[in-house]
Amino acid sequence: MLEIEAIYRQIGIRQNVLAFGGQIEKELKERFEQIDQIAEYNQLKVIQAMQKNRVSEGCFNYASGYGYDDQGRDTLEEVYASVFHTESALVRPQIACGTHALSIALSANLRPGDELLSPAGKPYDTLEEVIGIRPSCGSLAEYGISYRQVDLLEDGTFDYDRIRKAIGPKTKLVTIQRSKGYQTRPSFSVKQIGELIAFVKEINPDIICMVDNCYGEFVEAIEPSDVGADMVVGSLIKNPGGGLAPIGGYIAGRKDLIDACGYRLTSPGLGKEVGASLGVMQSFYQGLFLAPTVVAGALKGAIFAANIYERLGYAVVPNGTESRHDIIQAVEFGTPEGVIAFCKGIQAAAPVDSYVTPEPWAMPGYDSDVIMAAGAFVQGSSIELSADGPIKPPYAVYFQGGLTWPHAKLGILMSLEYLVRDGIVTLP
Ligand SMILES: *Cc1c(COP(=O)(O)O)cnc(C)c1O
Repeated sequence: MLEIEAIYRQIGIRQNVLAFGGQIEKELKERFEQIDQIAEYNQLKVIQAMQKNRVSEGCFNYASGYGYDDQGRDTLEEVYASVFHTESALVRPQIACGTHALSIALSANLRPGDELLSPAGKPYDTLEEVIGIRPSCGSLAEYGISYRQVDLLEDGTFDYDRIRKAIGPKTKLVTIQRSKGYQTRPSFSVKQIGELIAFVKEINPDIICMVDNCYGEFVEAIEPSDVGADMVVGSLIKNPGGGLAPIGGYIAGRKDLIDACGYRLTSPGLGKEVGASLGVMQSFYQGLFLAPTVVAGALKGAIFAANIYERLGYAVVPNGTESRHDIIQAVEFGTPEGVIAFCKGIQAAAPVDSYVTPEPWAMPGYDSDVIMAAGAFVQGSSIELSADGPIKPPYAVYFQGGLTWPHAKLGILMSLEYLVRDGIVTLP
């Protein structure tokens, strides 16, 4: 134990920061045990899926060109289908990111004259352009697909009355975002999503229910596809890539819908038959294998931070005791200095680029300066420990990830160290 204290000291964590963190960690023992249990379950689920689909060394072979009969790719898609308990899946390095995966799922399954409904309020920022909520080149709106949205009630729950009224003969697809992303609403549990899907299906069983599963995979023992979702969609540089996938996205769901996604991703007629995996398969398999424990580490980090900063008097979302449905944590510092010190601490704890100092800057697409901390192996990877904060009221920082619990812990201790060092926080 003494040696651990010594290395924390060498790395720049003062004794009372470490002691404060240690106290909080002790109080979280039971919570962490529950997280480990979910990780254990999900780990077995992934192993079982790999065994059932006979994953072999040949799956890691390099495939180039058209990629006909790419064994690694085809088997991985079966593994994903098994993990999510769906008929089929599309898992590809040609899917550039989560937004692209969502865009494929929508545009593959909607036709001119159809209506898309979001019954859970405003979708993730980048989807505004996909849908055409903000006019955008190539949006669904440009192809004659209309959009309707029902906002959440004050308390963050679904407005079932208005959802019923919003569903009409044109309603073809319902999109539900599991994680709050960077909004202030709560994230939804898989159970809540299941209730919403059942409600929609009772009105019209033909409506396709799609769930934006980004940041949610492996947080619970079940996934939205276990409670009626026709498609679940996400990014491999978040949870299911386990930090190892260097690129990629997935869509898992009903076979006819996934086939349509294949035709949209590559070409009508070709579909899932083409698209060589170019040597990334080992990282996809290994990342998926690690994902349950990686997500557990990130979750522990989020809960640790919530409890540390809540104890120090800051507003945190979710709060220290709430159940978790994604890996994102928000902390409201109320001052630019707080946000900046926090991000500097996260950066200083990174394995990569720890020596650089993040500064707020005018990032394209944002209406205020933004500071970002990321020292990641995969550029922009948000399953790795990362934080960002817009420099505007309420001066909140959003952070997520951490490939291992010890790293997440160090990052949060270092953020606190910087806040103490700058005189923003005084420890009790
Ligand atoms: C990250 C995210 C997306 C978009 O994924 P990118 O990989 O950034 O394109 C969509 N929805 C939610 C909820 C997300 O968290």
